[in-house]
Amino acid sequence: MDVAVAGVGIAGAFVLRGLKGSLEVLGIDKREKLGYPVECGEIIPTKKEMKVLLPNLEDYSLFNIPKRFESNRTKEVHFILPNGRTYEIDFEFHVVERDKMIQTIAEESGHELMLKTRIKGLRGDKLITERGEIDAEVIVASDGPNSRLAKALNLPKREFSPAKQYVMRGVECDEDVVYMYIGREISPGAYAWIIPKGDGVANVGIGFRPEYSNKGDTIVRALDRFVREYPYSSQFLKKAEVVSGIGAVVPVDLPVERAVYGNVLFAGDSASMVISHVGGGIPPSMVAGDAAAKVINGYFDGNAELEEYDRLWKRYLYQPLMNAYYLKRLWDRFSDSDERITRILSLASDADMGKILRCRIPAKIRLISPLLPIVEKFI
Ligand SMILES: Cc1cc2nc3c(=O)[nH]c(=O)nc-3n(C[C@H](O)[C@H](O)[C@H](O)COP(=O)(O)OP(=O)(O)OC[C@H]3O[C@@H](n4cnc5c(N)ncnc54)[C@H](O)[C@@H]3O)c2cc1C
Repeated sequence: MDVAVAGVGIAGAFVLRGLKGSLEVLGIDKREKLGYPVECGEIIPTKKEMKVLLPNLEDYSLFNIPKRFESNRTKEVHFILPNGRTYEIDFEFHVVERDKMIQTIAEESGHELMLKTRIKGLRGDKLITERGEIDAEVIVASDGPNSRLAKALNLPKREFSPAKQYVMRGVECDEDVVYMYIGREISPGAYAWIIPKGDGVANVGIGFRPEYSNKGDTIVRALDRFVREYPYSSQFLKKAEVVSGIGAVVPVDLPVERAVYGNVLFAGDSASMVISHVGGGIPPSMVAGDAAAKVINGYFDGNAELEEYDRLWKRYLYQPLMNAYYLKRLWDRFSDSDERITRILSLASDADMGKILRCRIPAKIRLISPLLPIVEKFI
């Protein structure tokens, strides 16, 4: 093989999509049906928003998301605080059918796929799967947050947030709005969401970082409170029923410092390339997957080194991901009680929350940053 793509989720699908047809490529995944079950809220900012979110990207055509993958297009994000205060922000998302998107992109790439095959690790520069060894000149490690290849290379462990989500039908919310709920009672150290997919169907979920939760609380109980009791969410879910449920993890850490190790290139969650304050990993995975493919094409054409990939993904992603991590760390400092979260956020305007959503650090946060140890004592 020229290239083995180890894990065909979002990042892997975009690697396959970008690799030249003349290369001998194999995409490997443990799943029987790519992208399924869907462990994701399925929102991707529209191209207009991506231009603000990732200002250094050169080609935004990746974000021309075809209609056939879209189940809904939302226009606003509402952030709801524990006291009911709501910030309403104009922000457009595609709500996609993520499994269909991954499956279609991978199949349309024309490259060979080997499904129902578990990757076990590396032996030297060869990929080990449960079906045997694969000898590929280049390996892309796009095997998600619990990357076997990251473990095989002893990369430092990254912080995760567990998350749980139901698909519900009979949801009565405004289908133009993505609802994000901030509060320790329903989502310790993270946030909860209702994401309308259209026709009364929605992804309803929570992040749950145990270190911020009350002793004895569990993610299942917190999600049930969110669905059945929490006044600002349960009002939309009174008649709704659960269709399916998943549990998964989202990386909420810094991105890796380097993503190229010999002939192995890491892309997406395996390299913690995530907008960590909102757990948004689809856009960085698309961008990293596409960048990896471009570099690999150049490598086989004889005009690029694999190390070029580190320069490229960092140019596109690094600063927004670092800003996101800064905001997430700031957030963590006030996440020990709903009263504190509410008090600190009462200082923010709709415009500030809009900036935060777009990975920008509002001027007032920059100003108070040096004084945080003092501010913390009074809030
Ligand atoms: C509940 C939840 C909601 C989310 N909502 C959103 C959202 O709305 N918008 C957003 O931008 N981000 C969201 N995210 C994050 C986003 O889903 C991920 O960041 C993104 O999917 C990462 O893509 P990836 O290709 O790196 O990994 P994945 O999509 O996880 O793909 C990894 C692939 O590798 C395969 N694999 C893993 N291990 C092996 C193995 N040992 N052998 C063979 N194959 C293997 C898996 O089967 C999978 O297909 C959410 C995450 C969670 C958990």
